[in-house]
Amino acid sequence: MSISNSNFEWADRGRSVWMGGAVRPDLCIASGSGVRLVDVEGRSYLDFVGGWAVSSLGHSPVAVSRALERQSRELVHCSPGFWNRPGVELAESLARLSGFDRVFLGCTGAEANECAIKLARKHGAGRGADRIVCTDNGFHGRTLATMAATGKPAWKNLFSPEMPGFVHVPFGNPDALREAMDGTVCAVMFEPVQGEGGVVPASREFAATARELCDRQGALLVLDEVQTGLGRCGTLFAFERLGIRPDVATLAKGLGAGFPVSACLATRDADRFEPGDQGGTHTYHPLGAAVGSAVLEEIVGRNLVEHAAAMGSLLRTHLEALARRRGIANLRGTGLLQAFDLDVPRAADLVDAARSRGLLLNSPRPSTIRLMPPLVVEPPDLVEFAEILDASLDQVLAPKEG
Ligand SMILES: *Cc1c(COP(=O)(O)O)cnc(C)c1O
Repeated sequence: MSISNSNFEWADRGRSVWMGGAVRPDLCIASGSGVRLVDVEGRSYLDFVGGWAVSSLGHSPVAVSRALERQSRELVHCSPGFWNRPGVELAESLARLSGFDRVFLGCTGAEANECAIKLARKHGAGRGADRIVCTDNGFHGRTLATMAATGKPAWKNLFSPEMPGFVHVPFGNPDALREAMDGTVCAVMFEPVQGEGGVVPASREFAATARELCDRQGALLVLDEVQTGLGRCGTLFAFERLGIRPDVATLAKGLGAGFPVSACLATRDADRFEPGDQGGTHTYHPLGAAVGSAVLEEIVGRNLVEHAAAMGSLLRTHLEALARRRGIANLRGTGLLQAFDLDVPRAADLVDAARSRGLLLNSPRPSTIRLMPPLVVEPPDLVEFAEILDASLDQVLAPKEG
């Protein structure tokens, strides 16, 4: 028996072999193009999850398949023990675009953040500074160190013992930051806009305080731009809106547009690695690097940063119109990383209702919906989104409450 065109069938088979307990709907994606995904039964969805803010160029972008095809015929892998041209070229492009001097290339966001954490500890070594100040409700990844940096209470004893050396302050509280800073701190690390935390932008005051305290204590300011970077928030980097420059910034999600490639960018002074300190089998990977360069070319060449800013404003206009008639509030975020809250904790129901109407949404918290469509989304897609959301809100927030 081989049934290959049933969502239920694939979900059932997956549940019996995929490790771990992520809760997934009975939906198996077969293909994607632009802002649409298609399931194994042939149903099409308007995708406002965007591969979790990854699919910056839309689904199955030609630029990525072309780069993969070209590079894979030339060289798939050579070991990080040698130089390779795409790896050098992507590092040069990222340095040029970002103004940083040094670039590490890895595969995942967590790997880029691990690199930043190692840089921070190296920076503080010798003077007893090994603590990193992070923020409540942040998110930095799922390796043991980045889980500790994330500091989610539910993760505290999940894989005990927790990696030591991370403290947390309320996001946006400069006084708490001042209190936490002393000579034992080697870095302050946060997201310019908390993504998993529900799209919460840092205030300029919080960022300025962090910059000032880091300078005073000789600590590194590390910004996790894994989700916010490369145009997602309507600027190339989200820190541009904060009026500060970090010493270290990490990138991942949008950089590969769906292919796993990440980067840790640092100033010359922040790069204290000596030969052998940092590495990895698939670092500076030719395929990932070739894709990264192709993605940067598209983002710059097609003005996708400006496009994301414009589409973000239009998206906000649609949401404001809906908010006047509906139980939704707290519209927030910029560019194509936005969120809103329902006045009841029924975001999961809204996600289900929208999916059955052909729209994919993400709910990072019980009352919150997060929107992160591909940067190539166009005005008619936003109209369609607003219509489906309106109908779905009708269904979920209907008079019959409870
Ligand atoms: C997704 C994310 C990460 C982790 O990236 P992975 O590629 O899943 O390891 C880290 N930081 C932020 C802000 C993220 O959104």
